[in-house]
Amino acid sequence: MKIIAVDPFYLRIPKITTAADGTQDTLLVRIRTDEGIEGWGECDASPLVSIAVYCCPMSHGNIINIRTSLIGETLNSPDDILRLSEKVLRNGLDIQQIQHAFSGAEIALWDIIGKKFGKPIYRLLAEMSNTPNTPHPKLPYASVLFGDTPENTRQVAKELHDRGYHAAKFGWGPMGKLGEDNDIALVRAAREGMGADTQIMIDAGVVWGTDYETAFRRAEAFADYTPTWLEEPLAPDAIDAYSSLISKNPSIPIAAGEGSSTYRMAEDIIVNGGVQFVQIDAGRIGGIMPSFQVRQLAEQRGVQYVNHTFKSHLSLAASLHVFATNPDFDLLEFPAAGSELSQRIVKDPFQVDADGLVRVMDLPGLGVEVDIEAIHPYLAPVHIEIGTETVFEQSSL
Ligand SMILES: [Mg+2]
Repeated sequence: MKIIAVDPFYLRIPKITTAADGTQDTLLVRIRTDEGIEGWGECDASPLVSIAVYCCPMSHGNIINIRTSLIGETLNSPDDILRLSEKVLRNGLDIQQIQHAFSGAEIALWDIIGKKFGKPIYRLLAEMSNTPNTPHPKLPYASVLFGDTPENTRQVAKELHDRGYHAAKFGWGPMGKLGEDNDIALVRAAREGMGADTQIMIDAGVVWGTDYETAFRRAEAFADYTPTWLEEPLAPDAIDAYSSLISKNPSIPIAAGEGSSTYRMAEDIIVNGGVQFVQIDAGRIGGIMPSFQVRQLAEQRGVQYVNHTFKSHLSLAASLHVFATNPDFDLLEFPAAGSELSQRIVKDPFQVDADGLVRVMDLPGLGVEVDIEAIHPYLAPVHIEIGTETVFEQSSL
């Protein structure tokens, strides 16, 4: 099989705001082959910066765009995906956003290979790594932003509880910005809205930077409301501060890692930061394989792997294949309040089963299908010219 086309698509809702809501726009990547099999992936990254990585003119041998690296290449096996990943990253050695941008293409390559062999991706990963190939259901935690006030947060939490969620994560918004009393009131409201018999997670949205003393004090204060973890109290690369925080033995576990844009960053936050939960976005770290390698490191180090997913169920599918076969990694970040765009990207989104759990799709490739008709209205066609030369022309969906 030969790769004949690599097409990024920029989709967005009409009005973009500063809310920490990553579903307002997105970058999908479609790869086509000469056998008629096509695959899709999604990046959690700046769409236009990423499109540049697909089409930028060559600067020298270390700045060669993703399309140039992939088109015309042979793709017949998972080994080819590893070989092509190496080639893309080598050719893009000096392109800062290469992993973010390539994530969508890498996921699409797995989708194609899964379809070619009629196997779900989790099974291909199990075969490659000689590990068990039985998928296990996950407890979905609804992932939402804090309300603007504790009262709004209580309402959001209550609605999630009434929708049947047994776990929910509240993040960003006013957390850390209006003083300790408000921070505690937000967490209390989340707990009261969800009820005592549920799990809640608190995402501080990197608000305390390197200030691990404040992060520690908040962890102690939040412990009364028994959150499963305190997520990203510190900046993504504040590894020393994470280490200092965790050496103080906070009363609730610390989670981080969604900012990892390389395997090495994830390794750093696990090994040197010492976090108890590592959260990986397959749409940022370079795709499925580097995510799977972090999963394996987490297994070795006794750290719990969790997906980071704040995009569509296309991203959710990619994320879930990575750790579906580990029964101990039992929590799944489940986008529950994304934009209309993010909810329309796939035809048959994941459902929460009657037992409250979510299962990986047992279908070839990712197991989800992009709804071309539904996303068409959100397509923002991109055309890039340098002088009179067209560098990028949007393909049709
Ligand atoms: Mg987060």
